[in-house]
Amino acid sequence: MKAVADQVSIAMERKTTEEKLHQAKQAAEAASRTKSQFLANMSHELRTPMTGVLGMLDLALQAPSDPRQSDYIRTAYRSGRSLLRMLNDILDLAKVEAGKFSLDQHPFPLAGCVNESVDILAPEAKRKGIELVLELAQDLPRHVVGDQVRLRQVLTNLVGNAVKFTDRGRVTVQVEPAGKTPEGEPLVRFSVSDTGIGIPKEKRHLLFQAFSQVDDSNTRHYGGTGLGLAISKEIVQRMGGSIGFESGEGEGSTFTFTVRLGTAEACDEPAEVAGT
Ligand code: ADP
Repeated sequence: MKAVADQVSIAMERKTTEEKLHQAKQAAEAASRTKSQFLANMSHELRTPMTGVLGMLDLALQAPSDPRQSDYIRTAYRSGRSLLRMLNDILDLAKVEAGKFSLDQHPFPLAGCVNESVDILAPEAKRKGIELVLELAQDLPRHVVGDQVRLRQVLTNLVGNAVKFTDRGRVTVQVEPAGKTPEGEPLVRFSVSDTGIGIPKEKRHLLFQAFSQVDDSNTRHYGGTGLGLAISKEIVQRMGGSIGFESGEGEGSTFTFTVRLGTAEACDEPAEVAGT
């Protein structure tokens, strides 16, 4: 009789523990949702006035003023742009966590998209004495279907990092076909190589985690939020692909990703080869 009573009591205890665990899990999920919602609302609300400030600074830059004033305005404009980039990253991350991150499906010119992403970084590369090279394979499809804005975001993030972590070296961007999916959709491989500082072995496993940076000291030399690679990985995975890297400390890094892009059949001719 006692043995039965003991068993019932153990079963009841187990049930209570399971219920408590379940409640704790639900509370943690609710807290995480509230945090993501808060981050999304906050960054969204901050973006609007920031865009206004940037618009005014842009106008001020075009109006004649003495060189010192122009310098001040340019510095304020650059800082504003970098704040807006951070807000966009936080907003993207919150969307990912809230399961509200979706991709567009529209035809776009592949070479044009890659060229734009590289061109944006050309002035910074030039300023740092970096040779920026773009190599597009001859047999790339001219037009593809997918999310051009998000593809550009991944590319500018990788090229931006390559330029940021390199001094007076070379950054090479290569794009080539990588076969087809079983459904016949084209796979395209992008790689961004640099001759920069490289990534120490012991930090490599952290790289795609949100907010992680190799140099996380208070005195760190390079700016950034540590969000770019986490968001890029999410985008690439949603495009049916994967992203990875190889690196040697002090020797440079190569980030490679492959994505599945639809074919825009009407204009599917080989792309023109472009380079810088
Ligand atoms: P952020 O660049 O804003 O810090 P990312 O998520 O893009 O954030 O990158 C995370 C970290 O990975 C960087 O802070 C840097 O430590 C490291 N990293 C990324 N790309 C490179 C690279 N090309 N060379 C060296 N380190 C890199």
